Amino acid sequence: MRHHRYTKILATLGPATANPTAIAELAEAGADLFRINFSHGSHETHAATIDAIRTVERDLGRPLGVLGDLQGPKLRVGRLAAGSASLTPGADFRLELGDEAGDESRAPLAHPEIFAALQPGVDLLLDDGRIHLTVTECGPDYAQTRVVIGGTLSDRKGVNLPGAALPISALTEKDRADLAFALEMGVDWLALSFVQRPEDLMEARALTDRRVGLMAKLEKPSALDQLEAVIAQADAVMVARGDLGVEIPPEDVPVVQSGIIDLCRGAGKPVVVATQMLDSMVRAPRPTRAEASDVATAVYQGADAVMLSAETAVGDYPVAAVQMMDRIIERVQRDPRYRLVLDAYTPPPRRTDADVITTAARQMAETLDASAIVTYTYSGSTAFRAARRRPPAPILALTPTLEIARRLMLVWGVTAKVVLHRDRFEEMVRIAIEVAKTDGFVAPGGCLVMTVGLPLGSPGTTNGVRIVHVP
Ligand code: PGA
Ligand code: MN
Repeated sequence: MRHHRYTKILATLGPATANPTAIAELAEAGADLFRINFSHGSHETHAATIDAIRTVERDLGRPLGVLGDLQGPKLRVGRLAAGSASLTPGADFRLELGDEAGDESRAPLAHPEIFAALQPGVDLLLDDGRIHLTVTECGPDYAQTRVVIGGTLSDRKGVNLPGAALPISALTEKDRADLAFALEMGVDWLALSFVQRPEDLMEARALTDRRVGLMAKLEKPSALDQLEAVIAQADAVMVARGDLGVEIPPEDVPVVQSGIIDLCRGAGKPVVVATQMLDSMVRAPRPTRAEASDVATAVYQGADAVMLSAETAVGDYPVAAVQMMDRIIERVQRDPRYRLVLDAYTPPPRRTDADVITTAARQMAETLDASAIVTYTYSGSTAFRAARRRPPAPILALTPTLEIARRLMLVWGVTAKVVLHRDRFEEMVRIAIEVAKTDGFVAPGGCLVMTVGLPLGSPGTTNGVRIVHVP
């Protein structure tokens, strides 16, 4: 029997891996989805990469998801005359609106909305928090600051204003162009960076309709302030610990991660834990023990997916990093306490037909020790609902379109298969058995729990559950 990995692996592609050979190797090592990062590269190279993923998918015969990640309003300092400058603790440092190249005492900052949000006493963090400035005096086009933690600042480094809610949309002009391109390329998921409020997702939804799943990257404290409303507007969520960990204190990150995962599980929205998971593997063939533990924690918490960033985009050991994640996940799944920890949080069923049916299916699968839960799903939503219960059996989602199968690659425990629509119930049962057998979900004598919508062919109805004994 085949072994099923419940937590999915999302691998970021970059210079180290954005080629057909590497993509095939990463997929064979266990990557379920690939992230295309619109912060780097051109539409031309991204188009070639997405085409390569689709080719690998065809060769492999299993759906692979593609996540387009929009850069969002990432704030950056401007250029420095010498390319970099050394900032000394205790020294004064001035930020000015405009683009005149900076030096040791000043730097340009082309974001008027930052100056509008500043006040004396506000902290500015540069270069992922490595440099810390405090504002002493400011106006609409300048800020005088004191260097609290110094270091070497180089051109175009990121700027974070922890705590400040900036009056900017989550979609820049560049994001809008990237979004149109991503839709044209048929990506399965689109991630919005630096989401601050639910309206940011509504803005993107108006442009994308239901053609793509929208993922909210949680990396701003302002999004955490309206967490439930943000999750409600999103189709999935990413705990984007890189920028989040600059904006909030490090000791808050694990607590926030755990809370977000529970809320997403309750809402039935896939949640991805991202950034620095196996960071040392960028340069080393083995992770630190702490990193292995970090991946395991996300798995115990019931995250839908864990993500690799630099490890696979620019690292020296991209395939080893995916293999490592795969091994950690498999190992946690073999721990008898995995179930106990996972079940410690059980979201209550909602009063909808789909939830009642998927909750019953989970219970039946447990009592019958079923080999799999089979869901026939048109929109994918029944598979999302089934995963919300984190059942003790894999979920086999049978769906008529490849687009939905790809989108479901993000979802905990779901294996998706494209099957032709059937209009006779007994035909559906026959196909479920056939697919489950061929793909190693069930052996003769085993049993499946199957959810269906009756009458057949009516999307959005899941109102039946059936036990199927496999001959
Ligand atoms: P990024 O997002 O890699 O696009 O910055 C993830 C994060 O901030 O953690
Ligand atoms: Mn980020």
